[in-house]
Amino acid sequence: MTTTPTTRRRRDVAVPDGPDIHCDNLVRIYRAEGIEVVALQGLDLEVRSGELVALVGASGSGKSTLLGILSGLDRPSAGLARVAGHDLGTMQRAERLEYRRRTVGFLFQQASANLLPYLTAAENVELPMMLAGVRSRQRSARAHETLEVLGIADCADRRPGQLSGGQQQRVALGVAVANRPRVLLADEPTGELDTRSSDEVFAAIRRANTEFGTTTLVVTHDAHVSEQVARTVGIRDGRTSTEVLRRDAVGADGEVGRVAEEFAVLDRAGRLQLPKAFTTALDLRDRVRLGLEPDHITVRSTREDREEAP
Ligand code: ADP
Ligand code: MG
Repeated sequence: MTTTPTTRRRRDVAVPDGPDIHCDNLVRIYRAEGIEVVALQGLDLEVRSGELVALVGASGSGKSTLLGILSGLDRPSAGLARVAGHDLGTMQRAERLEYRRRTVGFLFQQASANLLPYLTAAENVELPMMLAGVRSRQRSARAHETLEVLGIADCADRRPGQLSGGQQQRVALGVAVANRPRVLLADEPTGELDTRSSDEVFAAIRRANTEFGTTTLVVTHDAHVSEQVARTVGIRDGRTSTEVLRRDAVGADGEVGRVAEEFAVLDRAGRLQLPKAFTTALDLRDRVRLGLEPDHITVRSTREDREEAP
């Protein structure tokens, strides 16, 4: 291959300390016709450089709203959203344009959102580089390398209409990472694909993450996908509520297996969301009694108080 090692890793040079994605008490309120929808209500999230994180949550929980803000398309109503050192609340027009061109890549559910139908796969991947001022020779070398890493080198000369859904989505991924963005944001990228294509696309996302070092946040409904990542963040009612961490561990039988542990997220203000299954099982609502024990905290129903009340 004719590629130089410099095209291999992401090119962003401003490496700030701290996580690549940092949201602190992030709020987004939509106002339409006198009605307010609080889509994000004090969301906290940190994603370290090079991490691959899945974001899950019911429909309407605020996932797309979060990605819209992180991609620089939308603005927070309050709170902090910082990506690779850029403050997304105060960023001005010129910085925003550069940010969208070089720092973040975006992958949508519909591959067509990233693809021009009359260009070949390789030409589609070269287009964002052209807009970023990359010279012709380097463009074609990097497009070739991109398609190869994503497992679709053989599709280089075909147009989107001549590709399967999974191949199209991988080309769309190639477009998203063409400029080696520091961060990749993907909103249900496998939502419209069958299991096999979905696996191929997700494998390509993982390859981009490891080969290019792209910090990746991927929204998914697909349990199969979220099972393959080390960290899954659950969002509920516009707030991060749970995290599942997965790691390989040696079990009692001596075999190495995948261990998943679920945690509730305690935010900086000390807030915690109790799982609905827990609150309904014990009829916890309105007010609960908290007790501090030497090594844990108890949460009790006040049902007896309610029943005794006249
Ligand atoms: P998700 O992607 O998790 O399904 P969204 O971020 O799309 O959730 O939506 C979160 C909430 O914000 C929902 O209640 C939705 O109806 C509302 N919402 C999203 N976009 C808009 C908008 N442009 N105007 C008004 N409300 C919106
Ligand atoms: Mg959505």
